[in-house]
Amino acid sequence: MHADLSELPLVGGHPALDLVNTLERGVPIDGEPPYDYLTDTSALLRWTVRVGLISDAEATRVRRAWRADTATAQAGLAAVRDIREELHLALLATIPPERGNANSPAEAESIAAGAALVELHGRWSAATARAALVLDVGEPPKVRLAYGTVPAMLIPDRTAEATLDVLLTADLTRVRRCPVDEGGCGWLFLDQSRNGSRRWCRMADCGSTAKARRLTERRRATRTDNPPR
Ligand SMILES: [Zn+2]
Repeated sequence: MHADLSELPLVGGHPALDLVNTLERGVPIDGEPPYDYLTDTSALLRWTVRVGLISDAEATRVRRAWRADTATAQAGLAAVRDIREELHLALLATIPPERGNANSPAEAESIAAGAALVELHGRWSAATARAALVLDVGEPPKVRLAYGTVPAMLIPDRTAEATLDVLLTADLTRVRRCPVDEGGCGWLFLDQSRNGSRRWCRMADCGSTAKARRLTERRRATRTDNPPR
């Protein structure tokens, strides 16, 4: 049983990392495909509002545009899923074993990351072509690049914007992977702890599961060391 999208823990520390974590990333169970929390276009809409990539008013405009053009809606969902996998590949290549990415074949990973970055650049260029320069008169006045002027493409465009933001501005030495080989879930997060020692996406969940497992293993080992006479 999977948590509802509205209860999905947001642990990434950035909407783009939370996007990566809308797909299960742990050890696959019985060869089943990993569960995707972005089940359809309406789930995507709800999630985008929840993480603050679009406002409620914008969601209304997207909903209207997608209702009128379901093919574009499906293409939007597919684009977001592609961006999600490209970002995952790009970030994995930045995470060494000590930050949770054990058994990574470095060379294959960096080739995949390079290809993913080319794809992401293409998505971002298209989003930028649809963006507009907006003057905010104020003190101080500001000119900003506003992404998402075309409602039907607003969600993929804001997703591309968030993705570029994390890749270009985040401290990538702070990207961690919840350690799968130690019982973690494989989600990515930005470690914002002062000393950079966070290992688990959620201590209350992945961290304590792993701790309980270690304790059981230790007890079992102790029993084997001291067989009853
Ligand atoms: Zn985890």
